Amino acid sequence: MTTTTVAYAAHTPKAPLERTTIERRDVGEFDVLIDIRFAGICHSDIHQVDEGWDEGIFPMVPGHEIAGIVSAVGTGVTKFRAGDRVGVGCMVDSCRTCDNCRAGNEQYCTGSGMVGTYNDTGRDGLPTHGGYAQTIVVDENYVVRIPEGLSLDVAAPLLCAGITVYSPLRHWGAGPGKKVAILGLGGLGHMAVKIAHALGAEVTVLSQSLRKKDDGLKLGADHYHATSDPRTFEELDGTFDVILSTVSAPLDFGAYLSLLKTDGALVNVGLPEEPISLDLFGIVTGRKAIAGSLIGGIAETQEMLDFCAGHGLGAEIEVIRADQVNEAYRRVLRSDVRYRFVIDTATI
Ligand code: NAP
Ligand code: ZN
Ligand code: ZN
Repeated sequence: MTTTTVAYAAHTPKAPLERTTIERRDVGEFDVLIDIRFAGICHSDIHQVDEGWDEGIFPMVPGHEIAGIVSAVGTGVTKFRAGDRVGVGCMVDSCRTCDNCRAGNEQYCTGSGMVGTYNDTGRDGLPTHGGYAQTIVVDENYVVRIPEGLSLDVAAPLLCAGITVYSPLRHWGAGPGKKVAILGLGGLGHMAVKIAHALGAEVTVLSQSLRKKDDGLKLGADHYHATSDPRTFEELDGTFDVILSTVSAPLDFGAYLSLLKTDGALVNVGLPEEPISLDLFGIVTGRKAIAGSLIGGIAETQEMLDFCAGHGLGAEIEVIRADQVNEAYRRVLRSDVRYRFVIDTATI
């Protein structure tokens, strides 16, 4: 048995998204039925609709930055009840028994692998569909609570953009006494600036131009430089403990490694569609590291939401109607977003 909900879907790779209907499973014993209010648009949605990473599952309903209200719960649910303000991020299941799942790193599940919120196959064998829709049914263990102090629209992007930068900033020790550079001031990058600043680090934005400098400083950056200006690389040589790259396109990482101190780390969360090449002298000289990070675990996502609420941090958003989603995709591709589009799902 299923129930029908309205959604926005791409029916084939690269196709514009259109209004459609999809089926959601009935609320099972441990499931939460969520009335979705807002869904953020992540650049990963575009990579997947365009099959830039891999073959996709179509029709595809993107959306893994979901904020809404619980409207029903299964008989075995203990963590949530109707009326609760909740969020769902990039995963809706995992094996729950491997070492990583037990350690709260479900995103690195080595058992059956994490189940993506959309463009994936659930443990029931059915395709998963994401948040550009009015309802979703999710196991309670993959649902998080949105604290009272955060409104649902500015909270939605935290479910991917927020956790994707919070997790590595914490892991690589961004905090007092640390010089942290955020590369790319888009959806992820602007949350990285806010969170790194709130963690007490000295924050520098490295953006393609100085076009967004005033915004960057308001978001909490101490310094702002354009990567199109060669003087940036002369002035900042050997400066940073950590560089967090949120860039969606292939970059010359070699040039950025020179900006790290000895033992510094270039931590990458961006997922460009093409590989990069690298001159390994850049890491050997100065014992530098290149690392990566994928979203964050469920408990850590809750920790991030509580941290953001405690520091009054939400995303900077432009709320759009569902029929504006294709134009929003084009604007994200032009780096013309300040700083996250969020769909008001009532308009679907
Ligand atoms: P976004 O809003 O489009 O931001 C990306 C930023 O990268 C742009 O604002 C731009 O910043 C910079 N950029 C874009 N093209 C560039 C180019 N050719 N050269 C240099 N800089 C360029 O995207 P997002 O939603 O933040 O996502 C960023 C990337 O992270 C995507 O690839 C996405 O798939 C990936 N992602 C990864 C994870 C994970 O778990 N690891 C999670 C979510 C997203 P400036 O205008 O400031 O230069
Ligand atoms: Zn995302
Ligand atoms: Zn697992």
